[in-house]
Parts: sequence; structure tokens; C-alpha cells
Amino acid sequence: MAVLVVGGAGYVGSHAVRQLLDRNEEVVVIDNLETGHIKAVPGECTFFQGDIRDTLFLEKVFESTPIEAVMHFAANSLVGESMKDPLKYYDNNVFGTLCLLKTMKSFGVDKLVFSSTAAVYGEPENIPIAETEITKPENPYGETKLAIEKLLRWCEQAYGIHFMILRYFNVAGAHPSGEIGEDHFPETHLIPIILEAACGKRDKLLIYGDDYHTPDGTCIRDYIHVVDLADAHILALEKLRKENISRIYNLGNGSGFSVREILDAAKEVTKREIAAEIAPRRPGDPAILQASSLKAKVELGWCPVYTSIHSIIESAWKWLQLFPEGYQDR
Ligand code: UDP
Repeated sequence: MAVLVVGGAGYVGSHAVRQLLDRNEEVVVIDNLETGHIKAVPGECTFFQGDIRDTLFLEKVFESTPIEAVMHFAANSLVGESMKDPLKYYDNNVFGTLCLLKTMKSFGVDKLVFSSTAAVYGEPENIPIAETEITKPENPYGETKLAIEKLLRWCEQAYGIHFMILRYFNVAGAHPSGEIGEDHFPETHLIPIILEAACGKRDKLLIYGDDYHTPDGTCIRDYIHVVDLADAHILALEKLRKENISRIYNLGNGSGFSVREILDAAKEVTKREIAAEIAPRRPGDPAILQASSLKAKVELGWCPVYTSIHSIIESAWKWLQLFPEGYQDR
């Protein structure tokens, strides 16, 4: 039986596909290629292009191969865009997941690993953030992910669909082979933006605010390497298989870095000058987001490898040098 990776052509999904194939799993990938890249999908897996809101399409996929478990990465994930167009986010993220769950139910598939986000916490009261922290999202993106989390609890109770909810902090880096990496359009994330400035693809980094209550005034985030994150998905799947239970895990490195610290580390890694300028705060940015991933370490046996910020930036830099224009598949 196969593992169905929904959104497997995207940044995190494609790294999870690699990890699954490395473990000799049979993998089926679905992606609508709106933000994903066909070149990120290895030839060893079966690929279906289509949208999860299309239930007939989903049924065809589930009929084609017996599916044992689903990893669900397909979502829109830009906070700013979600503020401007919340309906897009509720439609793709919430309604799309509803269609997926209906199909899982009708085909008797009862295991789901779900990509959630630290955005469900909003501005947290406690740092580091544990899974017990109160959830109060401050933007539609986080709100849609929390709505799905709640839906999953009811689906477990009613239909016995078990889930692993993984709440990601700031995902960064690229596969050590340099073959797959981060290619977003538009790019809004700090590390790829800094590296684009390092290689002349953009003039400078705009630092969104230097008047936060942090030691250097810039925001602090917890950066997790995409391969470590993909590993956590494999461990979560194994736990679902063994124990048939549902859990929520935070996934971050546990150490926070400010925007200025990331900029300095990027200068060291790239050995280039990187211009930066202070700009106004970006609406909705909390000052500090830092995870406690203790639960994932203890219960999943998760052991992140790329814990230094330099190693995370190095892998992203390698990808950018090998693919300066990204996948170029559009
Ligand atoms: N950031 C910045 N300039 C940029 C992009 C991001 O100063 O061009 C800051 C942003 O305000 C936040 C941190 O970098 O404090 C990480 O932002 P990113 O968009 O990568 O992730 P987020 O934390 O929003 O999920």
C-alpha cells in the first residue's frame, strides 16, 4: 500500500517524498502545481496533477492505488495574502481538506499526517512555546489551520481517522544534494531573501522593524531545517502505524535567531556583503516565536541534525547557487 503525499511538489512536501522513497515506501503524489514544481517530484513516485477540492479527481487517485496513509501539505501559506483574501484561504485550506477527509473516509483510510503552523498560537504568552500554549491565531492563514485541527478531532471521534498534527516554526534550508530546495513566487521568507541579496538577485534586505522588545530590536524566529522537518513526518507516520493514536507536535530548533543574527550568519556563510535597510514593521509579526520541541523529541524520538543556523543557511546557499533561477518549470 502507498503513502499519498498531498502537495508533494511543494517545498516541504517534496522533501518528505524524498525521505519516504529513501525508506523504500511506495509513494503517490498529488499536486495542483499552483505553487508546487513538477521538477521537484522524483520519477520513482506516481504523480497526479489535480486539485484536492475536486472530489472526483481524489476518488480516481484513491481508486488507482490502495492508500494506507496520507501526508497533507497542500495549502496556501502566505500570512499577508491571507489577510487580503481570506476566502481563498478558507476555500483551499479548509474546504480542500474537507474534500480530502471525505475521500479518506469513503475509502477507509484512517491515518493522516497534517502540516500545521506556529501561526495557530498568534502572539504567545509563554516562550518557548509548548503544545499546551493557548491557540489564538491573528491572521486567516493560522485560523484556517486551526479550523482544520479542530475538524480532525471530530473526524477522529466520529470516523476513527487518526492524525499527527505537526505545527511548523520557520522552515528553511534545502536537501543536502542541492537537487531540491525552496522556490516560491513571490518569495517572502527571510533566508531566501537574504541569499538573493547576497547573489545580486535583489538590491538589499528590508529589515521589518528594529524596535521590537528583543535584544537587538529585530524579530526572533525559530528556524528548522526542511530535512529535519521531513524526518519528523516519517517518525509521525511510524507512530500512527504502531499506536493508532492522535497527537500534536511543535517542530522547531528550540533556539531563536533575530533578523540581524540571520543576516550576520548569511554574510559569514556566503562571504559576501549583503546590503540591508530598516523598514517599517510588517503587520501581524510577533516579536518572538520560539518552539519547545521537547514533546516531539521524547515521544517521536526526533533528533534534528541541522541545528546550527550556519548549516541551515549553507544548504539554502548551495541550492541557490545550483539553481539561481529556481526550477524554471513555469
Ligand atoms: N523579515 C524581514 N525582511 C524580509 C522578510 C522577513 O525582516 O524581507 C522578517 C520578518 O519580519 C520576520 C522574520 O524575518 O520577523 C521571518 O519572516 P519570514 O517571512 O521568513 O517568516 P514568518 O516568521 O513570517 O513565518
